[in-house]
Formats: sequence, structure tokens, C-alpha cells
Amino acid sequence: MGSEAIKRSLEEIGLRCTPQRYAVMAFLMGCKEHPTAAEIFDAVNRVDSRSSRATTYNNLRDLVQAGLVREVAVEGRAARFDAKGMRHHHFICDRCGHVEDVKWYTVRKPASLSLGKRVLRECEVIFRGLCSKCARRRADR
Ligand SMILES: [Zn+2]
Ligand SMILES: [Zn+2]
Repeated sequence: MGSEAIKRSLEEIGLRCTPQRYAVMAFLMGCKEHPTAAEIFDAVNRVDSRSSRATTYNNLRDLVQAGLVREVAVEGRAARFDAKGMRHHHFICDRCGHVEDVKWYTVRKPASLSLGKRVLRECEVIFRGLCSKCARRRADR
């Protein structure tokens, strides 16, 4: 997504395209990893040191609420963030907290959810286990 597209997608959901907000979005779009809020702040700050930690965190929260950014909760660790571009599921390592993308497939709504409940958003799956690095480390012992 180019800079015009980022600007448009912000404005479409009613968020003003401030330089700080743009910087957060642009960084996440170009990031293959799943950075924590602190890592996002560091990266944005490196480009433009005028935006404070609080502003960065507030912008991040706005983007999550607006549905442009996904928050990947990692139990017991700092949440990680991901620009919602291509749909995908996640794998999270229990040992080191590493987050990996898993190719998208449609998850069917279970029958137990049918009683008057409507699934408005898509179902995202989080797989948990050991990443290949941690699995290897465990096997070495
Ligand atoms: Zn791991
Ligand atoms: Zn992801």
C-alpha cells in the first residue's frame, strides 16, 4: 500500500491522517514481524523523534479500534501488532512468544454459537505450541 492508500484508508474510517498516525501505519504495513508497542515506538521515533510514547500508543489503540491493525495477544507478554492486510491466522510459541503467520483458511462457525449469536467478524485462529527453535532446544536436552 502506498502513502496515498494509507491516507485514504485512515480517512475512510474517520481518522485524521496525522504524521504520527501515518508513521505507525506505514511501519506496520512494511513490517513482516509482529512488533510490540515498544518496538513500534522505537521504530517510529527513529524516523521522527517528535512523536511521544503516549501519542504512539494512543494512535496504535485508535488503529486497532478502527480495525486497521490487529492486536495479537500473547499471554503473559506484551501484545504484538499486525497491519491487517492479507487475512491470516497466527501461531504463537509458548516458550519465547514468537508470532508467526499461518495461511488463511475459512473457519466454520460452530453449531454451539448459533443461538441468536451472529458472528460479524471472521474467526481468527491462534495455534499455540513451540516454534521450531524452541522445539529443537527442548529435543537437545
Ligand atoms: Zn519459541
Ligand atoms: Zn500476522
